[in-house]
Amino acid sequence: MYDPLKSRDIPAFHEFGIASYWAAVTPFPDTNAVALPRKAEVVVIGAGYTGLNAAIEIAQQQHREVVLIDAGGVGAGASSRNAGFLLPGTGRLSYGDYASKFGDDVAHAVQNEFANSIAHVKNAVETSDWPCELIEARYLRLGHNAKAAATLQQHQPAYANTLLTAQWLSPEAQQAQLPGLKWQHGGLSLTPAAALNPRALTGAYLRLAQRAGVTIVTGHPVTEWGQSVGKHTLIAGGHEIQCDQVLVCTNGYLPQQPFPELSTRQFPVLSSILVSRPLSAAEQQHCGLTVNDLVMDTRTLKYYYRLLPDGRILFGGRGAVEGKHADDAAQKQRMEKALAATFPDLSDLHADYFWSGWISVALDSMPRIYSPANGVYTSSGYCGAGVAFASLAGKRLAQYCNGEAVPDLPFYQSELPRYPFAAARRIALRAMYSIDRFRK
Ligand SMILES: Cc1cc2nc3c(=O)[nH]c(=O)nc-3n(C[C@H](O)[C@H](O)[C@H](O)COP(=O)(O)OP(=O)(O)OC[C@H]3O[C@@H](n4cnc5c(N)ncnc54)[C@H](O)[C@@H]3O)c2cc1C
Repeated sequence: MYDPLKSRDIPAFHEFGIASYWAAVTPFPDTNAVALPRKAEVVVIGAGYTGLNAAIEIAQQQHREVVLIDAGGVGAGASSRNAGFLLPGTGRLSYGDYASKFGDDVAHAVQNEFANSIAHVKNAVETSDWPCELIEARYLRLGHNAKAAATLQQHQPAYANTLLTAQWLSPEAQQAQLPGLKWQHGGLSLTPAAALNPRALTGAYLRLAQRAGVTIVTGHPVTEWGQSVGKHTLIAGGHEIQCDQVLVCTNGYLPQQPFPELSTRQFPVLSSILVSRPLSAAEQQHCGLTVNDLVMDTRTLKYYYRLLPDGRILFGGRGAVEGKHADDAAQKQRMEKALAATFPDLSDLHADYFWSGWISVALDSMPRIYSPANGVYTSSGYCGAGVAFASLAGKRLAQYCNGEAVPDLPFYQSELPRYPFAAARRIALRAMYSIDRFRK
């Protein structure tokens, strides 16, 4: 599998061969991609949720000419292969982390921006004519031990007076609602949240982009970038395009070139998903999980899971360290073991589907929208939680590059911090995974 830390450039159509459940079950609109034009006002690199939303905003609201370029097809990266948790959050910081770092007012405003991100996606789904199988849900953070659950319980009152609702789920209530889970320590239920088909969401954004008049170019890796007298020159798929502004929306898929400085400010990490065989009605009743539950545990290397509308369990967690090992049988077996441990009474939960994708981890666990160079703008570092936030971030990025006001929030005020020893990122990750094997 393509590996951003090993490759100078990203290959064209790097997503070919990724056999995800979503690719198998989801129809996709015609992309109607065209040849690369020679000029544009704005070029957006990366046609995932961030790039598609940025391009839609630029074409629809700013009435500017925009070309959206991807190395692969539309949604070639994480956007077409994630778990479809539409969550009120991003990055890895909790309400308490924001409150202690920036104060209660900012922490409240951040939660409201998360609620806005969900509303933004729901509005797009309603406006588009492409069905996304969106189901209202609750986001359940379940403690993997009593201490972690108690911390979640302490955070619950802080959500008062925000646009989010947080309810404490006691161990007894969890046992009654989700009896098939191994860990029964209680947790926090957050709304609004929703479950959806992530590939279909990419299709919905594609339809909106087409309607807005965005020019879409696929199969064109951007390999070179140069700047002279206020104009940018990009080489994509061997062809040249000139523009006034460049938006880099490549998140965890950013290769070493053509923005080497950006690639030292994020850490591409693999997340893997398996999808089980369909559960029988009796099995579903026994484990208690419904399509309205989006579950994540509190471990440092957490697992997340949901029941799909066809009765299968989608189960996700950390992937391999390097792209070349992403599809190893050992990775699949590790995930099958973790799934079996989570639902101890369900037998024969082998993976019918198994795949991986790159997420972008920010050093301080908080994504950023900023301008790394004159006329260049970027948004990344969602740390594996970007279905809702990356969508809104695309719109914010477009507003930011057009000189419009964006909310006064930490995401929009500084650059992503650089990893001090960028070359050692994988050594540290490997060590962390090894230590985790000995944790309970
Ligand atoms: C397995 C997995 C499960 C996840 N589950 C969830 C979830 O349930 N909920 C949630 O909120 N988040 C989840 N995420 C995270 C979420 O999918 C991402 O945060 C989000 O999709 C990021 O969108 P994006 O548009 O910024 O980046 P991406 O969708 O990754 O798109 C980046 C694009 O940039 C293109 N690109 C890169 N470099 C170049 C170049 N040089 N030239 C041209 N094109 C280039 C790539 O081809 C790619 O299409 C998950 C991620 C993974 C991998």
